[in-house]
Amino acid sequence: MAGNHAGLLMYPYPWQQSQWELLCSQHQAGKLSHAYLLKGVAGLGKYSFSRAFAGFLLCQHPEKLSACGKCKDCQLNQTGNHPDLKVLETEEKSKVIKIDQVREVINFANKTAQQGGYRIIIVHPAEALNINAANALLKCLEEPGEKTVIMLVSEQQNTMLATINSRCQQLPFSVPKAETILEWLSGLVDEDEQNLRLLLSLAEGQPLTSLKFANDKILSVRSRLIEEIGGVTKGQASPVDIAQRWMDQDLSQLLGWVSGWLADVIRMQQTGDVALMKNPDMAGMARYIASKASPSALHKLLDWVNSQRALAQGAANFNKQLLLEDLLIRWLHLTLG
Ligand SMILES: [Zn+2]
Repeated sequence: MAGNHAGLLMYPYPWQQSQWELLCSQHQAGKLSHAYLLKGVAGLGKYSFSRAFAGFLLCQHPEKLSACGKCKDCQLNQTGNHPDLKVLETEEKSKVIKIDQVREVINFANKTAQQGGYRIIIVHPAEALNINAANALLKCLEEPGEKTVIMLVSEQQNTMLATINSRCQQLPFSVPKAETILEWLSGLVDEDEQNLRLLLSLAEGQPLTSLKFANDKILSVRSRLIEEIGGVTKGQASPVDIAQRWMDQDLSQLLGWVSGWLADVIRMQQTGDVALMKNPDMAGMARYIASKASPSALHKLLDWVNSQRALAQGAANFNKQLLLEDLLIRWLHLTLG
């Protein structure tokens, strides 16, 4: 992955070609905007895109569609030390970008570029700007210095100030086609096609999330969990013991998986068709539960799991062990009638 990482700062991902070509053509025509809003769901590589495009603008000898990767500016950019690039991010332990950080960047924007070219500011994520910081940045967006390009990267542009939003050229990124991602993923991950598709499905179609899941060996973790919940289903393992074993799992992710398994059981009950399942490797268990549980019990448990998941994603403080025991007891009761 090391080679790929270095490459990330030079090239866009395969699914970002149209956005890349748009910016390159604007650049060649001398029509770059001073501010862009890169928006879309997480896991699409928007931040990498912004870094790659910054590298392209800073490069002394750019090719038609990419930085040269060899000049001094490219080297400075790849080590994250280019004096004409500022990345505005949350500081450690903070969830917001503060006004002092923005002021520093405004000072930077008002200076002449040290290397005589562009000055670039990346704000990531833009929704982390608190209200004062956003208002301070607004000034910079209204009166940008010459050859200054600001790229705001956002997953939740709806929560941003409308005044900021309206001063940026919108650059939307959408979830790419599965085939595009699978081709890219198959070059990086040593898994067969069925597993690649499963990774992509677990990642809700987000390419970088599926790559992270592959690197985290999430499929083998998930297989173990399916085996263990299967033990509970068959009455061979106690909910309390399995809850104990699941304590080190990420709760939100775990509940997301259980929610997906239940949805598959419901699908199995309605259609009997394994091909429609998102988790085909648990078809046996799904068929068994579907034959025993009532549709209303399945829907009730699914609603409960989803509500617990929403709580787990918030700041709610609760007893994880008790929640897991409760979950597994409810799961067991599906088939007990
Ligand atoms: Zn270069």
